[in-house]
Amino acid sequence: MSEYFHSVRLTPERCKGCVNCIKRCPTEAIRIRGGKARITEARCIDCGECIRRCVNRAKTAVTDSLGDLKNYEYNVALPAPSLYSQFSADVPANVVLCGLMQLGFDEVFEVALGAEIVSDATVEYLKRPEAKKPAISSACPAVVRLVQVKFPELIDNLIPLEAPVEVAARLVRGIRCRELGIAPEAIGVWFITPCPAKMTAVKQPLGAEKSSVTGAIGISQIYGDLLKAVAAVPRDANCQRATARGVGWALSGGETAAATAANSLVVDEIHNVSEVLEQVALGKIKVDFIEALACSGGCIGGPLMVENRFVAEHRMQQRLARMRAEDEAHGAAPAKYHSDSSLTEYDRTIEPRPIMRLDEDIFRAMYKVEQMEKTLKKLPGLDCGSCGSPNCKALAEDIVQGEAVETDCIFKLRERVRDLAQEMVGLAAKLPPSLEEREES
Ligand code: SF4
Ligand code: SF4
Repeated sequence: MSEYFHSVRLTPERCKGCVNCIKRCPTEAIRIRGGKARITEARCIDCGECIRRCVNRAKTAVTDSLGDLKNYEYNVALPAPSLYSQFSADVPANVVLCGLMQLGFDEVFEVALGAEIVSDATVEYLKRPEAKKPAISSACPAVVRLVQVKFPELIDNLIPLEAPVEVAARLVRGIRCRELGIAPEAIGVWFITPCPAKMTAVKQPLGAEKSSVTGAIGISQIYGDLLKAVAAVPRDANCQRATARGVGWALSGGETAAATAANSLVVDEIHNVSEVLEQVALGKIKVDFIEALACSGGCIGGPLMVENRFVAEHRMQQRLARMRAEDEAHGAAPAKYHSDSSLTEYDRTIEPRPIMRLDEDIFRAMYKVEQMEKTLKKLPGLDCGSCGSPNCKALAEDIVQGEAVETDCIFKLRERVRDLAQEMVGLAAKLPPSLEEREES
């Protein structure tokens, strides 16, 4: 079995080798070889960028399905705050949540409640003298994995707090086990997810040995059924408990606002995140807190969302404005739970996964760097991607690692064909005359 679980998968039969995806992958995890894409598992962070780029739908996200609910005695849906952005702000949050109940869940518990708890824990964490600054939010699993593989030197800057979905799952699982008297394994706790990164975090948790979340179901997978269910829900239904503070996490900047983090920096979209982290690694950014999200605009831009990201953002802004006014009018305070550290803190430290180094052996690595530089000088430097590697530097690395040859570069191939042709013309000139030619002369 593979060392890695990945929600993002490739269907080779659909791949046309168009190279669209290789140029956008933030960790250079994709190569085209033999006319088909190939994902290097150790490099993939499940950001879903390749799903967005592939026009042939050769990249997809594997998630769980509503059919899996039958294996559990009691099922809880954990909707991501971003789910609301898929509905007009006129559809009350209550109605969306009650619509989920109609899809077969026994209960709905908002991840936004977990976000409120994590916001409080973040406020406390940032006050700790040992907190390494800039402290980087670990809420987006794609960003945490980006740090693991590309910026291992920043591992200690990651805030060792669980993501809101994990906190919500721990909380609701504990409460229902006690109240209903059923075994933890008889309760199915399902995240309604905007992205494959969260699915991977459930199957291969970051800060704990095992996740309290049973599985993740993509928003795009249930959206059609949910739309129908929502239309049938009475408007006075009441399932909602979270406030705008937790729901606001759906948007880029929402976490920073909820944690009232001063001297902070908010960055979204995975390539922007990578650029900012590069500067942090160089010591150029002096802030206390960084909220970094892999998707453009935050989770409302997740790869498993249905609505256009800008429409979703507009709807979310409208909903939040309304919710804030209601929270204020009703004097609604965020729900208070016993937010002890067992709910929020990591059980284990996050390990680096530095896949960018060339060899385990330092001397061999140095030799390979030298070879790579020599090889790179011979390549055209156009970064066209026609060779199946994302850029000339990556091709040079692939050649040194024995995974590609120089003539994979179409310019080098052309040079080689031209040299061969000239050589053949030269050799042809040296040929002795044929029998026919002798007879004619
Ligand atoms: S999911 Fe992200 S990291 Fe993985 S192959 Fe696709 S673009 Fe690259
Ligand atoms: S920004 Fe949100 S939706 Fe996008 S990968 Fe991160 S957690 Fe998932």
